[in-house]
Amino acid sequence: MNIAYRAFWVEESEPGQFNRSITQKTLNEVPDDHILVRVAYSSLNYKDALSATGNKGVTRHYPHTPGVDASGTIAESRSESFQKGDEVIVTGFDLGMNTPGAFSEYICVPASWAISRPENLPLKVSMIYGTAGLTAALCVQKMIHHDLESKKGEVLVTGATGGVGSVAVGLLAKLGFDVVAVTGKTDQVEYLKQLGAKDVIGRSELDDSSSKPLLKSRWAGVLDTVGGSILANAIKSTQYGGIVAACGNAASQDLPLTVFPFILRGVSLLGIDSVNCSLMDRMIIWEHLANEWALPDLEKLYTEITLEQLNPFIDKILKGEITGRVLINMN
Ligand code: NDP
Repeated sequence: MNIAYRAFWVEESEPGQFNRSITQKTLNEVPDDHILVRVAYSSLNYKDALSATGNKGVTRHYPHTPGVDASGTIAESRSESFQKGDEVIVTGFDLGMNTPGAFSEYICVPASWAISRPENLPLKVSMIYGTAGLTAALCVQKMIHHDLESKKGEVLVTGATGGVGSVAVGLLAKLGFDVVAVTGKTDQVEYLKQLGAKDVIGRSELDDSSSKPLLKSRWAGVLDTVGGSILANAIKSTQYGGIVAACGNAASQDLPLTVFPFILRGVSLLGIDSVNCSLMDRMIIWEHLANEWALPDLEKLYTEITLEQLNPFIDKILKGEITGRVLINMN
């Protein structure tokens, strides 16, 4: 076997200097228990941009091909779990971190990282949601599991125009929650309302720097993608018994907070990870997204590009300038 294919390529030309291009690669062998997937679609996630710009917390060694998620068709299988021609979704684990990722016509990964595409979820739709959608849906599922109910009041979504935020707004609205979206993009209020947000507020409304341990009680739930003082202030404003899901750090990895929201208001803080969560959890979430959680009007949610068009989107996502999802069509 000798497969030649195109892939996005990040090289460290000198220490701290990273160049991005598209290169031709070859693959000669698929190891035992691995599958070779002809990638149909990938998507751009925040972590991909970190990897593509030399963040060694994400990718230790360069040259490297980023891309943490893919959907596609198995071109060769060295595993009993899958056969040539099966359509699969691969997200997370080490894909695109220190394993060559999905900004590529082919990926070669352990079969244990893949799940079969659900019947009602075309390959394209799976990557419109992508890792961001999987993560948003995991947050929602865990919040509901912890008794978040629509009758309890408003649910705040931060980083709302981002990939995770957009799917979260749409999904919570679809499930009957009153969603308040917080965004730094004042020109995207209409987008967020079309996704289903009942109300849209600016980041400055969560910008309390008084260091008060608690703020006026408002949110029944919070789905946070940004961390930092926005998450801290959202937690301080969470109602008695409210549920907060934290999945991201687009603003900051810090959480400047006291324990009072937890011990005086009984607030629960849930950590969400879609990278190493179990295959069973993934299958359940993808089945939901394929069926009763499928978002209407997916067209609003994404911009479709080719591998050649990817480069500028990497810089934009790092600056928080992307609205919705970026789908990469590898065909
Ligand atoms: P995006 O870049 O698509 O969205 C992030 C959004 O956060 C931006 O669009 C912007 O939204 C907001 N934002 C950006 N910078 C700031 C800032 N300085 N202060 C406040 N808000 C800001 O990223 P994703 O949606 O793909 O990912 C969001 C986060 O979730 C990332 O940190 C990512 O690493 C993490 N993540 C975690 C996963 C997990 O398994 N736990 C899986 C996937 C993602 P707006 O302008 O609307 O405010």
